[in-house]
Amino acid sequence: MAALRVLVGVKRVIDYAVRVRVTPDGGSVQTQGVKHSLNPFCEIALEEAVRLRERGAAAEVIAVSVGTKASQECLRSALAVGADRALLLEAPPEASLGPREVAMALTELSRRLKPNLVLLGKQAIDDDCNQTGQLLAAMLDWPQGTFASRLEVEGEAAKVEREVDGGLETLRLRLPAVLTADLRLNEPRYATLPNIMKAKKKPLEVIPLSDFGVPAGSPRLRVLRLEEPPARTAGEKVEDAATLIQKLRNCGRI
Ligand code: AMP
Repeated sequence: MAALRVLVGVKRVIDYAVRVRVTPDGGSVQTQGVKHSLNPFCEIALEEAVRLRERGAAAEVIAVSVGTKASQECLRSALAVGADRALLLEAPPEASLGPREVAMALTELSRRLKPNLVLLGKQAIDDDCNQTGQLLAAMLDWPQGTFASRLEVEGEAAKVEREVDGGLETLRLRLPAVLTADLRLNEPRYATLPNIMKAKKKPLEVIPLSDFGVPAGSPRLRVLRLEEPPARTAGEKVEDAATLIQKLRNCGRI
């Protein structure tokens, strides 16, 4: 097979180091004035795609994000670490996008661009849906290799290693296929300053999400309420192990 075209889904999420706060009405989390970054698992997916291109297995790496204008910043980061071009499927700010809507948009995009491989993260750390890759593979009727911790492209197929409960599972998937990246797949590189500068000149196309036939206004999944976990009560220091055991006995823990 000629060198592959790889599509990588990248999502803008609240930065992993930010302490997430629920809005006073419990309807969502506070996003205003909060640092956002590229979802860490998307960085891993992107790194793998860039490595495929560097090894000559891939000819083109396209980063795609479904979201508002703000997602352009993530696409620029994707270009800075090696994507060749980027696409924003732009949703209006009031749109409510769930995994189904994102998978529908990526399905239509895949039909148009005909990638050989779609690489996604295994999960987005904001809503932890962990469904987009699986939904996309089902909608496209393509094979899927989820939670990949090793990937090799062999001609018309991809060999994927996955960590499962009992050990490692190795799959051979016929291309085109959908893969989702696990933590151990690779260690993503940092963008260098020259590459950040070069990324400003790489193509970033913005296409309205409405062109993809996605019903952005009617998600099937609705978050009813969010609550912060209860605050932890203060700990207690004890004199010695014997006192600790006595206290644990008294409260019925041992
Ligand atoms: P999730 O199913 O939401 O946990 O996300 C899993 C993966 O799907 C992410 O790591 C991305 O690769 C991809 N994905 C989810 N939402 C989007 C989005 N809005 N735009 C692009 N890719 C996305």
